[in-house]
Amino acid sequence: MTGFGDLRELYQEVIFDHNRRPRNFHALEDATHRADGHNPLCGDQLTVYARVEDGVVQDISFIGHGCAISTASASLMTEAVKGKPVEEVEALFHDMHAMLTESHPDRDFGKLEVLSGVREFPARVKCATLAWHTLHNAITQAQEIAKTE
Ligand code: ZN
Repeated sequence: MTGFGDLRELYQEVIFDHNRRPRNFHALEDATHRADGHNPLCGDQLTVYARVEDGVVQDISFIGHGCAISTASASLMTEAVKGKPVEEVEALFHDMHAMLTESHPDRDFGKLEVLSGVREFPARVKCATLAWHTLHNAITQAQEIAKTE
């Protein structure tokens, strides 16, 4: 394994586990939303699927390949947003982006906290944010389509 730098040991363990056994790692046949994400700096590539009903992310999954950070981040994301209203997911997207790039917002990130150490490694930040940007794109694109009707 490479690329962990000196992330704290506990965080490293969680990331390692989610990279080795990614959760919700499959295509979603009945997805209502999907988007592709690509991080050319590292070669990370993934597709995020979501089934949104009544404004709630009822189901979410992803496929793709990439480094440990990108895979673990996507896996942790699917666990964190499943069953959540789209508005909450969007708020979490913005807070995660801030947590990974600027300063730590004043909120409880739960398990997602393990990704906070990535901020110290600017080259890996895009690996960690890729899944979130891709989910954000999937959700907002579909909203735009719906509005044109
Ligand atoms: Zn990467």
